[in-house]
Amino acid sequence: MPTSIRTCVACRATREKSELVRMVAVEGHAVIDEQSSMKGRGAYICRRAECVEVVAQNKGRLSRAFRKETEAPDADLFRKRLGLFKSSKQS
Ligand SMILES: [Zn+2]
Repeated sequence: MPTSIRTCVACRATREKSELVRMVAVEGHAVIDEQSSMKGRGAYICRRAECVEVVAQNKGRLSRAFRKETEAPDADLFRKRLGLFKSSKQS
């Protein structure tokens, strides 16, 4: 196995681990583990606003990924952490 392939919890795309962002559950909350250094079961997500949106609106995704009850993350916070900016003010 030359590379580590992980699946995005939001869109189910499989990608090289380095292309995804690791998250871990800390006290029932998903946090971004930018350095991939935190302990615990990790879940992976694309660096895409769309995928952040999916997990923010569907906490079941993360609860399943972490195999324990996990609150949905704050989409704005995650987007900021990932350097994603989306204008939701367009009409
Ligand atoms: Zn994705």
